[in-house]
Amino acid sequence: MRSVCVVGASLAGLLTARALRAQGYDGRLILVGEEIHRPYDRPPLSKDFLRGVLDDADLALESDGEDLDAEWRLGVAAVGLNAAARRVTLSDGTEVAADGIVIATGASARRLPGTDGLAGVHTLRTLDDARALRHDLANAKRIVVIGGGFIGTEVAATACDLGLDVTLVESGQTPLAGVVGAQMAEAIAGLHERRGVRLLRSARVTALTGEERVDAVRLADGALLPADVVVVGIGASPNIAWLKGSGLLLGDGVLCDEGGAAIRDESGGPARENGGGKGGGPAAGIVAVGDCAAWFDPALGRHDRCEHWTGARQRAGVAAETLLSGGVARPARPRPAYIWSDQFDVKIQFVGRARHADTVVVEEGDPADHSFLAVYRQGERPVAVLGVNQVRLFSRWRRQLETAV
Ligand SMILES: Cc1cc2nc3c(=O)[nH]c(=O)nc-3n(C[C@H](O)[C@H](O)[C@H](O)COP(=O)(O)OP(=O)(O)OC[C@H]3O[C@@H](n4cnc5c(N)ncnc54)[C@H](O)[C@@H]3O)c2cc1C
Repeated sequence: MRSVCVVGASLAGLLTARALRAQGYDGRLILVGEEIHRPYDRPPLSKDFLRGVLDDADLALESDGEDLDAEWRLGVAAVGLNAAARRVTLSDGTEVAADGIVIATGASARRLPGTDGLAGVHTLRTLDDARALRHDLANAKRIVVIGGGFIGTEVAATACDLGLDVTLVESGQTPLAGVVGAQMAEAIAGLHERRGVRLLRSARVTALTGEERVDAVRLADGALLPADVVVVGIGASPNIAWLKGSGLLLGDGVLCDEGGAAIRDESGGPARENGGGKGGGPAAGIVAVGDCAAWFDPALGRHDRCEHWTGARQRAGVAAETLLSGGVARPARPRPAYIWSDQFDVKIQFVGRARHADTVVVEEGDPADHSFLAVYRQGERPVAVLGVNQVRLFSRWRRQLETAV
């Protein structure tokens, strides 16, 4: 392999480029990134960056003096791919042909329809989003956060720390229940409520009001929540629209085998972005990694898209190996998914899958003190662990779960 083009110059793209070099690849390396920024870390955007504790320079993912001997094409998006020819078309009209392609285009925040252009309404995915939100929060008193996922709960916690009046609108009964299960999600919801977040459960947003700038959020029950700033945290969609017609199989992300090799679409029909194609074998010389990629998970028996920092980190080396070995390398069994989140002064860590459990028991500490460890079991077998301000004990459990795989 003499040339590799990495599309998406952020966490997954950078880590895969690094892994390629570490595994001995010495050919041409091109990194294409839509953003003008060098790779930066996103998790602080909803936490210490938003709080004003960190600045742009603190987010850099490259280490000082790091040189991957790569050609950087930043501020240019890939707009098309011919998978068979491994040719990427860029938004500036140029093309890059390479022996290997790494697809690492991540995900984009979902928006509320009809709210584009209304000042004061934010999503949070990029550094530019975070800068704009930080600026707006500095002049705001009341914020409404729509969506109680990780981004929503983190922004709510940060805004609360900043002294704002915070309302968190959750369409389900409890924020984060989809990840940590209903019972433990209540403990996290309790933390928010005790710290002053007004949590509205089972609430549906019907409209944002305001002429040029948002002034309130309207709910289905008629309630009107006044707001100077609204943050929409309703999930993220994989950036795969540019791959329509590429010849790759797309579903909830780029569908890949368990080593990260992208699967060919052999339906021969019109290009599809959201599934419905017919999976062939792996496309030669193309891997996908990070938030845009849905790898086959043998434990689940289906493709699964992992939208977390550690997922990109764990898979970058595997994807590089798959690419360099021409798909011959057999990946180790994937480790259980690990997630962390910092909210207020609390570190939340979770590993495994809550939905596989029949029971969950707090084995250390007390949820009321915001310091506890809960173990989820299927029968006798631990399948997931939640740690809240229990870093050491959690690490032990995490290792135990990983070695059990
Ligand atoms: C605010 C925030 C907080 C987070 N906090 C946590 C946390 O606490 N814990 C945790 O585990 N995870 C967290 N995450 C998730 C974590 O940051 C992501 O899992 C990680 O960034 C995924 O990396 P990626 O490289 O796959 O995708 P991304 O980081 O999304 O990078 C993809 C890059 O590709 C570029 N791109 C997109 N389309 C194209 C194109 N067509 N051509 C060229 N370039 C393109 C994008 O501009 C972007 O720079 C957080 C995410 C956000 C946004």
